[in-house]
Amino acid sequence: MSDSGRLTLVATPIGNLGDISPRAVQTLSEADLIAAEDTRHTGRLLSHLGIKKPMVAYYDANEAHRAGRIIEACLAGQAVALVCSAGHPAISDPGYVVVREAVAAGVTVSVIPGPCAAVSALSVSGLPTDAFCFHGFPPRKGPDRKALFTRISSGGTHILYESPKRIVATLEDIGLAADDPQVAIIRELTKKFEEVLRGSASDVASELASRGEVLGEIVLIVHTPTPDGATLDAETLARIQRMQSEAGLSNKDAAKAAAALLGISRKEIYDALAGK
Ligand code: SAM
Repeated sequence: MSDSGRLTLVATPIGNLGDISPRAVQTLSEADLIAAEDTRHTGRLLSHLGIKKPMVAYYDANEAHRAGRIIEACLAGQAVALVCSAGHPAISDPGYVVVREAVAAGVTVSVIPGPCAAVSALSVSGLPTDAFCFHGFPPRKGPDRKALFTRISSGGTHILYESPKRIVATLEDIGLAADDPQVAIIRELTKKFEEVLRGSASDVASELASRGEVLGEIVLIVHTPTPDGATLDAETLARIQRMQSEAGLSNKDAAKAAAALLGISRKEIYDALAGK
């Protein structure tokens, strides 16, 4: 048993086992107990790593009940590692309840960071990454679905998880709600058939629909312009450059004029015009 109890959230690979970190392996090897979303799935990972540990199932439906047992173990001095089947615990996966309860009980909570489909997908999307909103899986129907897509249409970068069966319908619905925004579909990250599709929602939906069946795990990134001004994407920059050349303005004057017009930071525009 460890000297003092602790709960550690451990991120695990989202497809490629080579992505497990040395610290994740060490934490799992040193844990007294592993709480897993799916003990059979995690059992396969542990046996690949040559680790044998007691496990307890911790999934959405028993979260509230099992959190108590996990916290008792921590308070008794045990080191408990919490994993989900793939990626970061507590991100569209169980974890939030036990973290909340552990914090309330005075248990030390730490994390071994690692693969997360949302952040990995955002980074390769080619869409603005400076600020973003993560929504998990969108509601399948009803007013909540409509409300989410209206929110997405109000501007910014948005990350969603979606099933391959529903991705075309979701792209079509977002296209209608948000005037056919730019999107990226990131499919099968870190796996053999990893793929990124970028373009308008309607073009990407047509491409996927033309394949018949869509397979694999998918993250959808959507970017919509803010109504009070445009974001400095490639299209906006090209518009500013046209305006600059027509009016014969210096980079400084063009940045000043465009910033006032579009509500984008003058420095951001100046740096882009200067190729920085
Ligand atoms: N906790 C996980 C994480 O940190 O990424 C997410 C778990 S959520 C239940 C599963 C969803 O994540 C999938 O349906 C898919 O939308 C996305 N996902 C997981 N692995 C992926 C991968 N390798 N490529 C693309 N999307 C993935």
